[in-house]
Amino acid sequence: MDSPHRFIPISEPLLSGNEAAYVSECVRSGWVSSLGKYIPEFEMRFADFCGVRHGIAVSNGTAALHLALVALGIGPGDEVIVPTLTFIATANAVHYTGATPVFADSEAETWNLDPQDVARRITPRTRAIIPVHIYGHPANMAPILELAKQHSLHVIEDAAEAHGARYQGKRVGSLGEINAFSFYGNKIITTGEGGLLTTDDDTLAEKVRFLRDHAMSPEKRYWHTEIGYNYRMTNLQAALGVAQMERIEEFIARKRWIAATYNQGLREIASITLPPEASWATSVYWMYSILLAKDFPLSRDEVMLSLRQQNIDSRPFFYPIHVQPPYQADISLPVAEDLSRRGINLPSAVTLGEEDIQRIVQAIREMA
Ligand SMILES: *Cc1c(COP(=O)(O)O)cnc(C)c1O
Repeated sequence: MDSPHRFIPISEPLLSGNEAAYVSECVRSGWVSSLGKYIPEFEMRFADFCGVRHGIAVSNGTAALHLALVALGIGPGDEVIVPTLTFIATANAVHYTGATPVFADSEAETWNLDPQDVARRITPRTRAIIPVHIYGHPANMAPILELAKQHSLHVIEDAAEAHGARYQGKRVGSLGEINAFSFYGNKIITTGEGGLLTTDDDTLAEKVRFLRDHAMSPEKRYWHTEIGYNYRMTNLQAALGVAQMERIEEFIARKRWIAATYNQGLREIASITLPPEASWATSVYWMYSILLAKDFPLSRDEVMLSLRQQNIDSRPFFYPIHVQPPYQADISLPVAEDLSRRGINLPSAVTLGEEDIQRIVQAIREMA
């Protein structure tokens, strides 16, 4: 069945500002590698945006998570609690250090890490907790930070999906000890591939800068006191990032407008749950997401197929990590499993127009 309508992608970057000009300047000047003025400028702008002292740019969001863990001294024998309902990078970063990711369930209300389930999974080996702000909605941080304090654990925010979201008025990326962002092509802003760590801790910031550049001694070039990584960001990436930062507030406002427009069109359908926004949260709705109730007339996969036939892209929620081959565990995390089965991400690109959203809303109404 062919649709006469344009294809609506789940996501696409908007690069129509100063992106081309700044990248061209890197090419013209020859500063294309990991030295150049855009890198510190991007780091500073992003740190300011989050309200923290330090931003350290790296090659991608997974590298940012990995470096945060390494800088905190996490390694073999340690356990790190992560939500099972997240992108697999959160768990992989823990695995890279030799530590063990321990999976916790989600809250039904916010779809984020459930602090009560985290409490049940703390053991003498637990060293850190990584709350993820899933699909742009901040995790319930106060009880997580409280648990961490009681048990002397580190907290690393995985803010890869939530640039600009607020928890009790504070930007994500300013709540944990050291925090990770991603600038992959479908994130709130993009550098192509890219990542960044935020922290208020001068010592951790210095440690991360050192580790991202092969742990080269700051005093003596080509002298290495430990094993580091090449996790540097290029000036080309940072040039894109600076141009994207000029529009980040506009992108977030657009995401919130997209969510409000969908909500308006879908709120009367009783068998659909709209995305959460807790009273203490400002979501950036990275991916506008809905849950289908058990009594929705079509299955989740049938809904996605029907959208596809109408030239509308969509994505299923992440599969819980504890059911996937590398981390398969004989445990049940029922809330996350249920969310994963019933959740759909709908098109959320900042390039969406009113007519696009109305077309998607209409398609879903006809199935309900
Ligand atoms: C995108 C993402 C990452 C990884 O970022 P990359 O830049 O793709 O390495 C990590 N965690 C979450 C929750 C993400 O969505």
